[in-house]
Amino acid sequence: MDRTLIFEGLKKYFKFDSFKSQLQEDAVIEICERKHDVYVSMPTGSGKSLCYQLPAVLYDKKITLVFSPLLALIKDQIDTLLALKIRAASLNSKITKNEREKLIADLKSTSPNTKLLYITPEQAATNTFKELFQNLCKFNKVAYIIVDEAHCVSEWGHDFRPDYLKLGDLRENCSVPCVALTATAGKQVTEDIIKSLKLASDHKVFKTSCFRENLFYDVYFPNILENPFIHLKCFIESCLCLEKEADLPKNQKSCGIIYCRTREQTEVLASKLNSMGIKSLCYHAGLKNKERLEFQEMWQQGDVPVICATISFGMGVDKATVRFVVHWGVPKDPASFYQETGRAGRDGKPSWCRVYYNRADSKAIEFHLTQDLGKASGKADKKLKVENAVKGFKKVVEYCENPSECRHVLFSNYFGEPPPKCKRNCDWCKDKKSVTNMVETFLIKSVQ
Ligand code: ADP
Ligand code: MG
Ligand code: ZN
Repeated sequence: MDRTLIFEGLKKYFKFDSFKSQLQEDAVIEICERKHDVYVSMPTGSGKSLCYQLPAVLYDKKITLVFSPLLALIKDQIDTLLALKIRAASLNSKITKNEREKLIADLKSTSPNTKLLYITPEQAATNTFKELFQNLCKFNKVAYIIVDEAHCVSEWGHDFRPDYLKLGDLRENCSVPCVALTATAGKQVTEDIIKSLKLASDHKVFKTSCFRENLFYDVYFPNILENPFIHLKCFIESCLCLEKEADLPKNQKSCGIIYCRTREQTEVLASKLNSMGIKSLCYHAGLKNKERLEFQEMWQQGDVPVICATISFGMGVDKATVRFVVHWGVPKDPASFYQETGRAGRDGKPSWCRVYYNRADSKAIEFHLTQDLGKASGKADKKLKVENAVKGFKKVVEYCENPSECRHVLFSNYFGEPPPKCKRNCDWCKDKKSVTNMVETFLIKSVQ
């Protein structure tokens, strides 16, 4: 398809002057070709929807089918499209019989007005849809099959949807290109998506690298520090630059998150920091609902810069000025570690991700995993899950106790990417020698 048509369409239908990124542009151009299946992996908010919505609008007399896991997500998308005067509709249990009949009549007409048809996977399994789908294929009216939130096909993903597994079969009856989209998925999840949706072997990939070049990673060992709390305090002060920001509005001031394994740890650490003059809150599932919301709000608004939290904290937290994320103990696995530290530096400014590693914490997690493994014996799928958790945890322990390469490689391996050009963005690449020395001291101290 002519590039100028694509750029004109971007402006005319979506009112955007330019693409959000080169990757978005490249994906749109490829998808418009309709020659290959396409896999798109970009972080939340990077504009994945446009990658298929623009091609969908540009294809005359054809319909784009979009599978999306939740009615709420579908509703948002349709409202946005309708506001732009783009014909989008959804086949779901919420619409009236009359609406449904009208919609189906349009879809079956020789030149349908509907451009995008959104369907939940549950809906896709119904006879109404199957019959409609066959009809559309027969008359060659499908432009694309889109699978949004494609990680839902994978049991390793965070929200597995069994009905998503049937989408692959659907494709066998229809030879139109498939576009699968997801926010960063690990290597295993990506493999599941490709296999399950039967993406052709020559499918094209548009993927943001997982490397966050503004994040600095390092590890310290509290048991060989003279005073771990003072060490932590100095670290926080160096990250936050509180004096320099004295005149900034409070919600623009820098802040940080400290992840702890247990509720008690969050409370102990928060009160310790407060006593040392660093305003801190704690956050965990044991707090009353009202209190928990209040604390999160106070941190979000910038009233208190530091929050000591269990990993239940963070879902939906989108604060641009997080300057540091500390793991006081040990992260659970590479994926969680990536996600938790990924909350730092959303504004692109340098930010710090530190683990204060201790064996006691690590042993506690190991103990729980061993128990889980015992409980899972005899249940194959459960067992596989726990075994995977064990593998993931071992990688993080290795990362802390036995580093041998750039810290960012933990993530690039997990996402199946080549090692990034870190330069000096981790303690290892900055000063390998002192890391090795520190680890040696730690190991000697730990066997005593
Ligand atoms: P994702 O699905 O990747 O999380 P969305 O498709 O929901 O992201 O898009 C996130 C936001 O980016 C939306 O508000 C969308 O309107 C906006 N957006 C998408 N493409 C562009 C663009 N080319 N220019 C400006 N904003 C864009
Ligand atoms: Mg999306
Ligand atoms: Zn490095």
